[in-house]
Amino acid sequence: MAEMTERITCITCGAYILIGNGSVKFSCPECGELIGRCVRCKDLGKRFSCKCGFYGP
Ligand SMILES: [Zn+2]
Ligand SMILES: [Zn+2]
Repeated sequence: MAEMTERITCITCGAYILIGNGSVKFSCPECGELIGRCVRCKDLGKRFSCKCGFYGP
């Protein structure tokens, strides 16, 4: 059986992120799309925007 490996990309910079390394993932409150943010973009407080139009700090 193949191991389930989560491949989440940062929605701001597009880099692959590793969960548990300061990076976060959550579901868009609007459409439920999985959103990832890398630790760099989180620290910089960059805005993110989902493809549904939702955006946040
Ligand atoms: Zn990023
Ligand atoms: Zn969304």
